[in-house]
Amino acid sequence: MEQRTQFYIDGQWTKPLGSGKIEVFSPTDGAVIATIPEGNAADADKAVQAARRAFDAWAATTPAQRAEYLKKIQDGLKARTDEIAKAITLEMGMPYKMSQRVQVGSPTASFGMYSKMLATFPFEEQVGHSKVVREAVGVVAAITPWNYPLHQIAAKVAAALAAGCTIVLKPSEVAPINAFLLAEIIHDAGLPAGVFNLVTGYGPAIGEAMVTHPEVDMVSFTGSTRAGKRISEMASATVKRVALELGGKSAAILLDDADFSVAVKGVVGNCFLNAGQTCTAHTRMLVPAARYDEAAKLAVEAASAYRVGDPMAEGITLGPLASKMQQDKVREYIIKGQAEGAELLIGGADLPEGVNAKGYYVKPTVFGKVKWDATIAQEEIFGPVLSIISYSDEDDAVRIANSTLYGLAGGVWSATDEHAEKVARRMRTGQVDINGGPFNLYAPFGGYKQSGNGRELGKYGLEDFLEFKTMQFKPAPKA
Ligand code: NAD
Repeated sequence: MEQRTQFYIDGQWTKPLGSGKIEVFSPTDGAVIATIPEGNAADADKAVQAARRAFDAWAATTPAQRAEYLKKIQDGLKARTDEIAKAITLEMGMPYKMSQRVQVGSPTASFGMYSKMLATFPFEEQVGHSKVVREAVGVVAAITPWNYPLHQIAAKVAAALAAGCTIVLKPSEVAPINAFLLAEIIHDAGLPAGVFNLVTGYGPAIGEAMVTHPEVDMVSFTGSTRAGKRISEMASATVKRVALELGGKSAAILLDDADFSVAVKGVVGNCFLNAGQTCTAHTRMLVPAARYDEAAKLAVEAASAYRVGDPMAEGITLGPLASKMQQDKVREYIIKGQAEGAELLIGGADLPEGVNAKGYYVKPTVFGKVKWDATIAQEEIFGPVLSIISYSDEDDAVRIANSTLYGLAGGVWSATDEHAEKVARRMRTGQVDINGGPFNLYAPFGGYKQSGNGRELGKYGLEDFLEFKTMQFKPAPKA
């Protein structure tokens, strides 16, 4: 069993000030696989003070100097890909092959992207007689979830470092080991002491101490809408900048002219990626009422192709959920879906066959004939559960797609990209995949409505960590 007993603060591994421990559980059998320190407010203060002391010098480095460090971190992640992918699979359950590509590939690429971007990013601009400079916002508290743990960390840490900010990171207590590996890599890259600091613990304790700390200039949070609201409230007392990346309940609209044999498979794949634990998951499939039967049949076919089991085993496409709490929550939603009258087409709340009964497995589940306002069609489930909803015409489809509190993502499928784009423009979400268009690290990522207010990745993610400063110069007297 892995025992992590130290935080990374001020360039060194240091003993926590509290004595509590948090257990990390294996999603495949519920065994304790690691322990991490349970940090408290004094630990948060120590890390924030270190970040504060390091700030002036780090913010004064040149973009080229920062680019070099980011490149070294990228190289370090690349060199340890298999080890990190395995750690993430063991702590949160994504099938190993996918972990290598998604859970490690994507964060590695983020560090590379920001390293390259620094060569051309315009930190200064002349506006009439004013020079407008973009400066690091300051000390950043980064708080992250467990579903794509290192990707979410990298989206913050790489961009904040590129901007010239210093950081205190508190990763999710559910999947924290990857963050310790990143801290080792950052240490090996020789980043100056205090620029990056790692603490762990529970959100309401150490997390809130970071959020309310007067020396923290910005909170960058990814997680649930519930915690995001609380963080906004707490941060308002010190007027910090708060960037929130929250939950979602995204809709994929299949237009009448779409090729359903491609589209339905695409939606099911999107919904079940990472066992449904993806904030952008297309969990509502909206189909024309006249084509409902065809869509339902294809969805069942696609769902039945999933192989549920140990995420380290070859050929497994759906691992367990990350925690017991998540498994219980998802199974409750499945029971509620049935109770509210949706038709269970495949799956259900009982355990899948052939898996370790102590693991946090859930059957890939598809509900048909779901009413647009049913609980399972409105609330984020965060598990492998798809709801098929019928619509009468395009206006109705757009209305249903926009009917939740969320606005993170969505998709539109049509015979032509032009037709799909017309509908996509009417969706109140931060991103829309047209005919299965893939994720783009260089494009802004974030939500409308209660899905958040920040934008990560690409140049937009870097901009989130910058302040504007305007310097007025006296115009030269006219000759
Ligand atoms: P969570 O909100 O429970 O926890 C996220 C992080 O916040 C953890 O590190 C936790 O310890 C901390 N936290 C919790 N309460 C806090 C508080 N009061 N103050 C400070 N910190 C606190 O979310 P989770 O269960 O880890 O993650 C799943 C959620 O994250 C889902 O809702 C999902 O949609 C969302 N998510 C959003 C995005 C996005 O980019 N929009 C990406 C991934 C996940």
